[in-house]
Amino acid sequence: MSQHFLVSARSRTLSLREIYAAGEEKNYATFCKLRWETTNGEPTCPQCGSLTHYKITTRRRFKCADCSHQYSVTSGTIFSARKLSYTNLLAGLCLFANAVKGVSALQFARDMGINAKSAFVMLHKIREAVAGETKNATLTGEIEIDGMYQGGKIRPANLAANRIDRRLASNQTGKRRVVVALRQRGGRTLPFVATSEAHGVQIAASVVEKNAKMFADEASHWDALHASFDTARINHSVAYSLDGIHTNLVESYFSRLRRMIEGQHHHVSVRHLNQYANEAAWKEDHRELTNGALAHRALGLALNQSRSKYFAGYWHR
Ligand SMILES: [Zn+2]
Repeated sequence: MSQHFLVSARSRTLSLREIYAAGEEKNYATFCKLRWETTNGEPTCPQCGSLTHYKITTRRRFKCADCSHQYSVTSGTIFSARKLSYTNLLAGLCLFANAVKGVSALQFARDMGINAKSAFVMLHKIREAVAGETKNATLTGEIEIDGMYQGGKIRPANLAANRIDRRLASNQTGKRRVVVALRQRGGRTLPFVATSEAHGVQIAASVVEKNAKMFADEASHWDALHASFDTARINHSVAYSLDGIHTNLVESYFSRLRRMIEGQHHHVSVRHLNQYANEAAWKEDHRELTNGALAHRALGLALNQSRSKYFAGYWHR
């Protein structure tokens, strides 16, 4: 019987024990290698691109010999204002990679020995970094599209006499959103947060190439897809899959996202829903990578992305 990949020894290539045993110098070298991949870890001035530099060894900083700019391995990246050691940052990335269904900020804070706010910010920075991998990506080939509604639920009052009609628009929170996801078979998953699933039609027009084939369920708003794409539909009241027509892969993505939200985060604000959707997509698309490869990939993405727009100020406090 074949073993599930995550259970096999070959999926495990990095552990917290190894990271802490390696020590700060070795973990720092990993940062340099992933930041300056093309020069095999040799520092490159972020200002002018020069390789000539002086080392300010006590602080692990460099001074460019050509333009005098001072920089470090995390300068200009989402980790630029870091307070944690390289060892602790790498451990955090390992915990992120190991959490196949995500990790709550509170659990991460306890594992890392940092406060909940720092944990929240660090996790969101990593999510932002991994999402950068598919920034401006387009899809082609066979693509499944579907939506998953999330949030905006009102708990019914204890006493029946106090309960309101939750179906009325005036009694709704306005916080209900839908994650519309497009998943290319054998390719990437792109999630978007919208107020209605029907917005998926416009989203498809902007990220799917014209010659692609689309797969959608029977919901009537997908009728509009036929005008722009070769589209096949599966009626779920008849079957989940018929002659290769199905949306099973995009459904697998939603099941990971749902387990992430319900099992780890419980409450997700409208503002951050896209971050969790991105994390789940990245993990779904790379589900066959080893945990070490995942952690290093996340670090590489974090070090090659400019400073966080959203969380720049948070880190200092
Ligand atoms: Zn320079």
